[in-house]
Amino acid sequence: MKPFDVYPLIDITPVKALGTTLWDEEGNAYLDLYGGHAVISIGHTHPHFVDRITTQLNQIAFYSNSVKIPIQQEFSEKLGNLSGYPEYELFLCNSGAEANENALKMASFATGKDAFITFNGAFHGRTSGVVAITDNPKIVAPFNSHHKVHFLSFGDLDGVEELLKNGHVAGIIIEGIQGVNGIRVPEADFVLGLADLCKKYKAKLILDEVQSGYGRTGRFFAHHWIEGLRPDLITIAKGMGNGFPIGGVLIHPDFKASYGLLGTTFGGNHLACAAGLAVLEVIEKERLMENALHQGTWVMEELSKIESVTDVRGKGLMIGIDLDREAGSVRSELVHKFRIFTGSAAGKYTIRLLPPLSIDAKALHLFIDSLQAVLELKEA
Ligand code: PLP
Repeated sequence: MKPFDVYPLIDITPVKALGTTLWDEEGNAYLDLYGGHAVISIGHTHPHFVDRITTQLNQIAFYSNSVKIPIQQEFSEKLGNLSGYPEYELFLCNSGAEANENALKMASFATGKDAFITFNGAFHGRTSGVVAITDNPKIVAPFNSHHKVHFLSFGDLDGVEELLKNGHVAGIIIEGIQGVNGIRVPEADFVLGLADLCKKYKAKLILDEVQSGYGRTGRFFAHHWIEGLRPDLITIAKGMGNGFPIGGVLIHPDFKASYGLLGTTFGGNHLACAAGLAVLEVIEKERLMENALHQGTWVMEELSKIESVTDVRGKGLMIGIDLDREAGSVRSELVHKFRIFTGSAAGKYTIRLLPPLSIDAKALHLFIDSLQAVLELKEA
């Protein structure tokens, strides 16, 4: 058997990683400015992360959600406090898609309605419901295409209200910052408008913070930059486990739990919670949110001075860079010649930066110099 060939691969084999560096089989070092799709939050193989998981592994790695798992309670409390949502409840699962799938389900259960509003350019995952609310027809199979979904543009509050009036809409889902679509930050007034309309028409607002959350923008959630916003459901994954598969839904106390309403075999297991706790402890102790904002603000300013950069968008360490040329060959040269990993986006002119939150100024200087060299603006 061989792996199902669905991923176009970069011809590099990382065999070791530490902090913001990856090493290949020949010992070449690479700077990681992509974190494997925004997953590496506290840095590769962080010693506290390794310690916490190893200690847990030597005690108990897994038992199902049919017994008491005190580390789940410990993790929920820590996450509630650090995220500013201590009164919300947490449902744990294993990925971003699963988190969103469960959030849609909760909104539909609570309202008794079956349609959702989503936005042009959205990416929410690849499972049945969430691929239907993702704006990419190429990954929607006929089986996934029967959900009741309405796509609208950012800013179209009139369109949203028109749909909410007909009474079938269970909720609205929006990314804290659109990631796959090239880092698009929604206007605060627009998101606050969505929250008001949800209240008015008894629909639920879901904030997908799978990519934009966990300190990446300099605050715990990207939507924390919007004063006074308290979504009904918030979904998380990616940076949550620093590579250990874990996802979750933060659920407003208005929702009532009942046995069997949601469930999963692996979600919230001992090892995943140990990984999740290690991440939160490091984010707090090493003040990684402050670092994300500081380094991100600096590098965005520097990028905007580069002639061939036509636009720089984002917040903290969630950055989209538009070039005056196709980004594919630039990224390829960055990784093969300068040994720097960056990310792509839906638009072919865009580079996405999603580095570990621990990135330092030296690494970002190196990136700026290398990018300028690739763009032939400076000697290498
Ligand atoms: N939501 C957003 C905003 C994402 O960026 C992604 C993945 O890129 C997902 C959901 C899906 O997460 P996963 O790949 O863990 O299922």
